[in-house]
Amino acid sequence: MTLVDSFGRTFSYLRLSVEDACDYRCRYCLPGGYKKEESEPPLSVDEIRRLAAAFAELGFWKVRLTGGEPTLRRDLVEIAAAVAGTPGVRRVALSTNGARLAELAPGLARAGVSAVNVSVDSLDPARFREITGHDHLPRILEGIERALALGLTVKLNAVLMKGLNDGEFERFVELSRARPLAVRFIELMPTADNIDFFTERHLKAESLAARLAENGWTEAPRAEADGPARRFSKPGFAGSVGVIAPYAEDFCATCNRLRVTARGRLRMCLFAEGEHSLRPLLRSDDQRAELQESVRALLGRKDVSHYLPDGKLGNTRHFAAIGG
Ligand code: SAM
Repeated sequence: MTLVDSFGRTFSYLRLSVEDACDYRCRYCLPGGYKKEESEPPLSVDEIRRLAAAFAELGFWKVRLTGGEPTLRRDLVEIAAAVAGTPGVRRVALSTNGARLAELAPGLARAGVSAVNVSVDSLDPARFREITGHDHLPRILEGIERALALGLTVKLNAVLMKGLNDGEFERFVELSRARPLAVRFIELMPTADNIDFFTERHLKAESLAARLAENGWTEAPRAEADGPARRFSKPGFAGSVGVIAPYAEDFCATCNRLRVTARGRLRMCLFAEGEHSLRPLLRSDDQRAELQESVRALLGRKDVSHYLPDGKLGNTRHFAAIGG
C-alpha cells in the first residue's frame, strides 16, 4: 500500500520522536535548556509498536527515532527492537546528539537500528561547548567510530552558522575522506524561539552546495526514501557530503515524510500550524484501521509547501518539541 497526497507525493518515511526532553542547550534550539511543559508521558513501547504497525501497512518502511534526545529514554533499545520487528519496516534509523552513542551502539545495532545521524556542530572542543553547553566532543567522536566499526550507516549533521562555526566547512568535509561517513550541512531554520539568533547567524545552504560543486563534488541522484539532503560525492573520498537546504525552491516537492511527536501527535510538516493527536487510537490493536483512516484523511490536507521563504513558521517553537 502507498500513501500519496493531493500533490502526487508518496510518503514512506516516518520520523518518530520518542522523547521531547533534551540534555543539550544548542543555541539555535534550546539555549535555556529543556523545560518540561507537559505532564502527559511520552508514548509507551506498546503504543509505539501499534503506531509503527499502522504506518508500516500504509507503506512507511523507513522509521527514524528522534527527539528531543531519544537516548534519554531508558527503554530506547526496546523501542528500537519493537519498531525494527514490525512487518513492513525495512530500515530503522536514529538521530542523536551522540553523547551516549559509544555505549548504546552495540545494543541498538542488535535491536535492528542500521543507521545513526549524529549532530556535531563543531570539531573544536571549545566551540562545541559554546554551541551546545557541553564538553562531550571526544566521546561523541568515539561514538561515531564505534558505530562505524559496527557497520552502521553514520551521518554527521552540522548546522553551519555565520561567524560561529562556518570556518569549519573544510574540516567537516575532510572527515568524509578516510571514513564511509556522510557529512551533512543543515541550513539553520527559523523558529518562534530563535528568530533573533537566526537573523544574525543564518547562512544559506545553497552557497555550500555551490562551494562543493566548485571543488569537484558531483551531486548524486535522489534515492527512494532519501531524507531531504542533496548528496555529493568526490573521487578519493570514502564518504559523502550532503546539504539540506530548506529554502531551495523545490525542497518540498520531494517531501516523503510525516512526523509524530513524543506524545503521539501527527505533524504534517515541521512548520505546520497544528498537530493531530493519534494517541486515542493507540489504546488497542483493533484500532489500527481507524488510525490508518485518520492518517489518510489528514494527509489529504497536507500543504504543498512549508512556505518558509514567506516567513511562515507555523507553531514551531523549537525542533526539540517536534523531532527535528
Ligand atoms: N537530539 C537529536 C540530535 O541532536 O540529533 C535529535 C533531535 S535534534 C532537534 C535533530 C536535528 O535538528 C539536529 O541535527 C539539530 O542540529 C537540528 N536542528 C534543531 N533546530 C534546528 C534549527 N532551528 N535549524 C536547523 N536545524 C536544527
